Amino acid sequence: LHKGLKWYLCLKQKHYSSVAFISVLNSVLLSVVDADVTVVGSGPGGYVAAIKAAQLGFNVVCVEKNATLGGTCLNVGCIPSKALLNNSYFYHMAHGKDFESRGIEISGLSLNLEKMMAQKSGAVKALTGGIAHLFKQNKVTHISGHGRVSGKNQVTAVAADGSEQIINSKNILLATGSEVTPFPGIQIDEESVVSSTGALSLKKVPEEMIVIGAGVIGVELGSVWQRLGSKVTAVEFLGHVGGMGIDMEISKSFQRILQKQGLKFKLGTKVMGATKRPDGKIDVAVEAAAGGKSETLTCDVLLVCIGRRPFTQNLGLDSVGIELDNRGRIPVNNRFQTKVPSVYAIGDVIAGPMLAHKAEDEGIICVEGMAGGAVHIDYNCVPSVIYTHPEVAWVGKTEEQLKEEGVPYKVGKFPFAANSRAKTNADTDGLVKILGHKETDRMLGAHILGTGAGEMINEAALAMEYGASCEDIARVCHAHPTVSEAFREANLAASFGKAINF
Ligand SMILES: Cc1cc2nc3c(=O)[nH]c(=O)nc-3n(C[C@H](O)[C@H](O)[C@H](O)COP(=O)(O)OP(=O)(O)OC[C@H]3O[C@@H](n4cnc5c(N)ncnc54)[C@H](O)[C@@H]3O)c2cc1C
Repeated sequence: LHKGLKWYLCLKQKHYSSVAFISVLNSVLLSVVDADVTVVGSGPGGYVAAIKAAQLGFNVVCVEKNATLGGTCLNVGCIPSKALLNNSYFYHMAHGKDFESRGIEISGLSLNLEKMMAQKSGAVKALTGGIAHLFKQNKVTHISGHGRVSGKNQVTAVAADGSEQIINSKNILLATGSEVTPFPGIQIDEESVVSSTGALSLKKVPEEMIVIGAGVIGVELGSVWQRLGSKVTAVEFLGHVGGMGIDMEISKSFQRILQKQGLKFKLGTKVMGATKRPDGKIDVAVEAAAGGKSETLTCDVLLVCIGRRPFTQNLGLDSVGIELDNRGRIPVNNRFQTKVPSVYAIGDVIAGPMLAHKAEDEGIICVEGMAGGAVHIDYNCVPSVIYTHPEVAWVGKTEEQLKEEGVPYKVGKFPFAANSRAKTNADTDGLVKILGHKETDRMLGAHILGTGAGEMINEAALAMEYGASCEDIARVCHAHPTVSEAFREANLAASFGKAINF
């Protein structure tokens, strides 16, 4: 093969051959396949787009560089973090006073971290394997290797052994996702200085953990280890917890609840650096964000959680003249096309919230667009969820945004303490807060802090997609007793000025 390749390249250089001859040799010496759509990356954006494209009748190839399919979400993101959140919550409930107060007495309770991690890995394995199965079922060709754009209609996949496969494709869809943003000067070893990936696989419960960043991933993973027994302090540059986009009133209540659970926060504080001591502990130098007061905190494990950045390494974008924007993202138009019309991009690698469901939706409508369909997504209706206990979920505008935009609004609130199901469950922390348009009553935003918020928010997203008024929701019959009745009551309060049960 090697000799043949040399001979072929020599011929090519000397222009001895015709285009047809080269093309025949190409397919003999290099592995060449043809496709209608080649998706690079198999995260929630890429794999969903690949399946949908195949269902639309396209001949689809999906190139993935990792050993397993599913991207960040399934391997080191949404799925493993939720497995640990769920199980650490059970442990916390059984371990604390909560079970006792419900008349459930347990003695000799202990934590088998290895088993907990195994359950998490089992869920990941089943779900990533499930995608391979779905690919087969939908006739998506999976090519294992690093995909590189090598032409406006060509992707080259380089396998782990260095062999190359060329895919000539009518359309290319880049769904290469994101990676952990490094903290300047702090070296991640995934043992004691970890990113979210390492924090999902610690071998023992750290005595003390410091989390840099009290955004969504920081509070979720901080909660996991705090429930399992760590003393956790989250250091946050901003003055609030829960990251960008959270309603400030909700954020404050959320912070109070997490503090009651034992999490500590240092808000308005910046990390200046971290040093490993000979005894293995880590000193973390922090300072007030506004400048001035500084101090040193010490921990066993430092979790760096300051966000994620788009991943476009060795993607060959320059070969077709695609330039990244100032935040390293691939610029696209409203049909997800880059400046090269046959090359599209979706998910974490483009602008917008870095969320799995946003990537999925973009993937679906992007390939529908390739098939000639309409392409539309209302980013205002993309929900956000923090999977702590209680959960926080929101969709639409915050009160701060409405004020800033000068939109006249009204507020309807309903505390879970007044909801019969929450009361019977002895799980009453939090509230539902609805923002409606003052004149039209149209729902503008829903903010839920409470158990099940992550499920309930989908009702709000549905209502907003359909342009529902608060009265519309207040008039929809909700099963009793359910915590969702609090959602209805908050809409009643927004629309009529008063709830029934509060
Ligand atoms: C700890 C954690 C928890 C999270 N929890 C949630 C959550 O609860 N809900 C939520 O909505 N979001 C969550 N996220 C975010 C979510 O994981 C991402 O928004 C989502 O995975 C983005 O999907 P994507 O398809 O754009 O990219 P990714 O999932 O990042 O997938 C990209 C894929 O492309 C592959 N790839 C990259 N370059 C190449 C190449 N050149 N050739 C071949 N393959 C390539 C990568 O290996 C990867 O498999 C979480 C993230 C983390 C880190």
